[in-house]
Amino acid sequence: MSSTLDFDIRLSERPRSAAEREAILADPGWGRHFTDHMITIRYAAGKGWHDARLEPYGPIALDPASQVLHYSQELFEGLKAYRQADGSIATFRPYANAARMNRSAQRMAMPEIPEELFVRSLELLVSTDRDWVPTRAGHSLYLRPFMFATTRALGVNSPADEYLFVVIASPSGDYYAKGIKPVSVWLSQDYTRAAPGGTGQAKTGGNYAASFAGQAQAVAHGCDQVVWLDAIEHRWVEEVGSMNLVFVYGSGADARLLTPALTGTLLPGITRDSLLKLAPDLGIPAEEGKISIDEWQAGCESGEITEVFGCGTAAVISPVGSVKAADRSWTIGDGEPGPISMRLREELIGIQYGSRPDPYGWVHKI
Ligand code: PMP
Repeated sequence: MSSTLDFDIRLSERPRSAAEREAILADPGWGRHFTDHMITIRYAAGKGWHDARLEPYGPIALDPASQVLHYSQELFEGLKAYRQADGSIATFRPYANAARMNRSAQRMAMPEIPEELFVRSLELLVSTDRDWVPTRAGHSLYLRPFMFATTRALGVNSPADEYLFVVIASPSGDYYAKGIKPVSVWLSQDYTRAAPGGTGQAKTGGNYAASFAGQAQAVAHGCDQVVWLDAIEHRWVEEVGSMNLVFVYGSGADARLLTPALTGTLLPGITRDSLLKLAPDLGIPAEEGKISIDEWQAGCESGEITEVFGCGTAAVISPVGSVKAADRSWTIGDGEPGPISMRLREELIGIQYGSRPDPYGWVHKI
């Protein structure tokens, strides 16, 4: 039923002029500007997904008693559309985002959206606003699908029965326009991001609301990002900011990767998953496991750990240069971006922008 929904197309009567758009695309920053249109699709229990629209980007009217405003039934996704070398446009693994959104939906007692409908929404928005897909190297169009509870009810005993799915798009600049600069990280021992049985592996707004105090503490200690540890023993490394962490052991032909296993408290990143497949094909073994803060520090001090990086859609790969906690601090390698991190970054970006072959079928042409 819903995957064959027809979209009602309502084009903006006041789209930005080409000159206005170009001025924005010259320096888009991140998450500050939005394209001329958005997708909205409604859901009601018993009726399913309906009322699919492409409409002008703009405010959404909500009843003050909408459940999302009180109990945070919300989830979101993030992926990008990339201008390919031949001028065409492609997204990267959109079905992986659709599947993750549906796993988040299960945890948040929200309705799943058919994967085809999710991907068609992205395709329709990107093809309508295709002139907003940047052509500058390293720039892209960030796509933000999200869904929230609109039922007007303050009862807290059951999930909502009405939802709105929305997709908006935002041109994004090159994270590292001024060159790759390793980030410094703060080990949060006061706050945790996710506990076993909680919502850590769901991409839901509450996880991010809960992270701001830890991030503010990182900044107060002169660090760029916060590293989250497990909630029970406070020593197993989980994630950094909104990226998964990868540890490089050894160097050259002996290099291998370790990334914290998906224990239920980490977000299963699509960049992380891609690197777990890509790295072995480049001759770099990659495994999932456990690493404690003591092992991280000792590994850097002995030279066994040579590089560490965060990975995610926004920055692809972000080298970590130094680590700080209340009782200790250390640097990773010489504190500069390492060769394995840079190689993986180049390979993955090459696939995303179509300058390298894609043997995995990850690139989804619009
Ligand atoms: N962890 C968290 C908490 C995140 O918000 C993100 C960004 N979605 C990631 C990891 C990386 O995920 P992905 O590679 O899918 O962007």
